[in-house]
Amino acid sequence: MRYTVPHYYCKFQCTASECQDTCCAGWKIVIDEKTLKKYREVKGPFGNRLQNSIDWEEETFLQYDGRCAFLNEENLCDIYTEAGEKMFCKTCRLYPRHIEEFQGEREISLSLSCMEAGKLILGCKESVKFVSLEKDVREKEDETFDFLLYGKLSDTREVIFRILQNRTLPIKLRLSMVLALAHDMEIKVAKQQLFQVDDVLRRYEDESAPERFAKKLGNSISGSRQRKKLMQEMFKGFEQFEVLNKTWPAYLKELKKTIFNQSEEMYEENRRHFTTEVLEKEVWTEQLMVYFVFTYFCGAVYDGEIYAKMQMAVASTLLIEELAMAVWQQNHCILTFSAFVDIAHRYSREMEHSDINLNRIEETVKQKECFQLKNLLKVINEIQ
Ligand code: SF4
Repeated sequence: MRYTVPHYYCKFQCTASECQDTCCAGWKIVIDEKTLKKYREVKGPFGNRLQNSIDWEEETFLQYDGRCAFLNEENLCDIYTEAGEKMFCKTCRLYPRHIEEFQGEREISLSLSCMEAGKLILGCKESVKFVSLEKDVREKEDETFDFLLYGKLSDTREVIFRILQNRTLPIKLRLSMVLALAHDMEIKVAKQQLFQVDDVLRRYEDESAPERFAKKLGNSISGSRQRKKLMQEMFKGFEQFEVLNKTWPAYLKELKKTIFNQSEEMYEENRRHFTTEVLEKEVWTEQLMVYFVFTYFCGAVYDGEIYAKMQMAVASTLLIEELAMAVWQQNHCILTFSAFVDIAHRYSREMEHSDINLNRIEETVKQKECFQLKNLLKVINEIQ
């Protein structure tokens, strides 16, 4: 079995009681079958507490005032203090680690929804490297696993990383190229022309590709002034989602008011300043994109939704950055690193920790006009 992690993975340290936004607050934590069975067998006072603090039907920990029933006043977990880490359920044991499983492969990332992980992900100045380790672990053979498609997806993702991390190119061009690459890749797969994928990858890696692509892009979006309208529609597309943290709708509404309740000219002016003044933003954009692509792209082996995975990565990055622009505006043209991490972690907590929301994002980006290739290219490239 091969395990792959981003190079900063081992630097993660949970701040436990020091954490301002502990993961046990706000979320309903689902308990896996094996742990539920273990909890059922615990006797004595702690066993009674377990009996009374679990919703056995929903298989989740009960919550009091939005906090896990075992989260004490010092923000420490009573399961840990009473019985140790071995009594954690799978979710608590793993978080903020996220595992994607493929035949013979486990890809482990840190989730942006944890502020400490977010600091590592977004604070990484250099390009992220991925580190793999082989372990002798047996797993059940899945005869339906499509190794051929998975291989092509992995190769494509490697090229995507190289483009995203090519800092000699403007970030907007890097985003546009990877979006178009995923689009082309999906067409080849849909037409069952997997043997042509290598040609597509070569075309995108060719030395002349950025120049060719920039020229084509310039022609297709020249004179367009639709960014504000398109961004508004993108936010609308994400409105009917499951709410995990009850403060999220008001937070979102307030930030949307800041960015969209201004004239088109003002919006463009602010955006121009934001993109030139917030210097780290190019690196933050790269790290957000690499994060979303690493976490989700190869999952297309299970559903064939190659392009939707990239639309989701781009849309999430753009929405986080738009929220960051609102915070920058509200804060008199200042955006600190921790404010940016906070925005990204709030977005991730809402979107990435609900299967309902993840499915809805995929459906929304596939169906809504504002997320189609030509419109995303406009949003990426206008007014920068
Ligand atoms: S959110 Fe992160 S730092 Fe905070 S308690 Fe959870 S794992 Fe630890």
